[in-house]
This record gives sequence, structure tokens and C-alpha cells, in this order.
Amino acid sequence: MPFSEVLNQPAATAYLQKSVLGRVPQALLFCGPSGVGKKKAALEFAKALNCQDPQAREKGDACGLCAHCRAIDAGTYADVVVADFLYQARLELKKEPGDKSYEEELEKELAKQQRIKVDTIRDITTKSQQKSAVGGWKVFIVDEAQSMQAEAANALLKFIEEPPQKTVWILLTDKKAAMLKTILSRCQPLQFAPLPDSTVEELLRQADPEAADPALAAKYAQGSLTRARRAAEALEILQSAPQGPAWPAACAAALPRTMAQARQSAQAVLDVVTLAVHNAWTAAPDETARKELQQALKKLENYKVAVARNVSPALTVETALMGLDKWRVQI
Ligand SMILES: [Zn+2]
Repeated sequence: MPFSEVLNQPAATAYLQKSVLGRVPQALLFCGPSGVGKKKAALEFAKALNCQDPQAREKGDACGLCAHCRAIDAGTYADVVVADFLYQARLELKKEPGDKSYEEELEKELAKQQRIKVDTIRDITTKSQQKSAVGGWKVFIVDEAQSMQAEAANALLKFIEEPPQKTVWILLTDKKAAMLKTILSRCQPLQFAPLPDSTVEELLRQADPEAADPALAAKYAQGSLTRARRAAEALEILQSAPQGPAWPAACAAALPRTMAQARQSAQAVLDVVTLAVHNAWTAAPDETARKELQQALKKLENYKVAVARNVSPALTVETALMGLDKWRVQI
């Protein structure tokens, strides 16, 4: 039963299942940290609304096996659209899949994405007005909804106010406070909670069987699979580099080659280190040690700001890690 695949979100999934059987809201806002199952739940909802299996439909659920369920899973069902940064990157890349170096250029385009733009919203609102090919429910999912440019949010507003029949909009956000009030007031909010460490660990093992130290990555993840994936990558870098005086430089050299990826990876390394320093701070034996570690945390915050700007990720990681010995922090 596919709704059961959305782990540890009983309140949200129960609400969605009830909606499938009763009244479907015009617009929903899924709020909660990234990597806790918001997108997964939105897709399961889309499947439950369009499933062809009468037994599953009776329960407000999806079978996961019929042609509609499988097409939604594969991202090929025309009436269910996930407008995320990947979708936007594909729209912006003036190439077709199969063209020379398509994947490579798509990755570069994806790394540049920071906001959902008005052209992307116009693309999906146009789709929302087209006639459905199969006559089922149309579901439009906007990821990172808080990142919509003001023009994009305003363009969307009209459509979530008065959607065509059998159309539902689902906005996903991890920063509800950053959303426009006019959008918030028109959406039914649904809260998603951080996941328990054990669930994050299980999901990480499923998503990436090769992930470095899933149990430790889950501890660093604060209930989010996205953070767990990044933490696993950071741990791989921190734990694979040979220990000793050259460790900071070796970790810096292990960052990915492309600048956008190196920046992301450096942020993850700094996040893992910050949590390790924070843990050391909570266990500090005396006031002097606590003060030192507090200073260290301040410095790390500055390093994170530097990486987000134009400072070299490798140089920042190397400098940040050089301080760890002094603070007696273990990763
Ligand atoms: Zn089905």
C-alpha cells in the first residue's frame, strides 16, 4: 500500500487518505524539513487520486502497480507534474535528451538553480489549463515553493484561487515563514515532522547502499534524509583522508572538482564539523573549554558564510579543519 511507504508521517498521510475519499482541497502546502517525505507523500497522493485499482481506491490509497501508478512513479504521467529545480533546469537547457553532452550540461544548469522562476510557473499553469488526456486528476507539485520569485508567486496565485475542476496544487516548503502571505492564506497547510534517526538510517541504506557510515550520518541528519545524504558524503571525505598533520589538506583535496559541487560538499563538511563541535560543547568539562568551543562555533558560522560567497571551498575547509585539533574535537 503506497501511502504506507511514506514513513513516520501518520498525521499527514491519514489526512491525505481521507481527502481522497472525501473532499480534495484545491491547494495544499506541505511544510517541514527537507528530506522527510513531503515529495514522496505528494506523489502517493497523486497516485491515490488516479489509481485504476478499485480495491485500493476504496481505501483512499493507490495500488502502486497499475499503469497510472507506474507512470506517475516513472515521471511520465502527463497530468502529474513536479516543478522542482531539475524540471526548471530541463526547461532552461536549450537541448533535448539524447543531444551531445546533455547530462553533463543539465548537471551544470541544475547547480545554478536557486529560485523558482515565473517562466516555470507559467509553463505549469499553461499545462493546468490543457485538457487531461485520461480525464483523471491533475496534480501540480511545486518544490522549494518559498524560493518562488515574487512574480512567479503572483502568477501562481490566480490559479490556486480558482483551479479548473479535478486539479490540485501542492506546494512544498521547508521555510513556511518565507512564503508570501497571500499564498499561505489560500493553501491548506499540512505539517511534516522530522524523522527518527532509525528511519533516516533505513532510508539512507535503501537510497544509497554504498553510503559511508549510515548510522553516524543519521545522527548528523536531524531527522532529514537530504541532510543524511550530505552528511554521508561529508563523512566519506573526512574519514577517508589519511589522519595526521596533512589531514585538513587531504580532505580539501577530496572535494568534488566542479565549483558548484565543491561548494555544496564543503557546506556539508562544515555542517558535520559544526555538529561535532556542538556536541563537544554540550559535553565540555569546564567553562574555559565551553568558551573555546563557542568561539569555534562562531568561526565555523563565518566559514559557512564564506563558502556560500566566493571564497574557495577547498581553502575554507582546510582552514576550518586545522582548528579541530586545538579544540580536541573528534569526527
Ligand atoms: Zn494503481
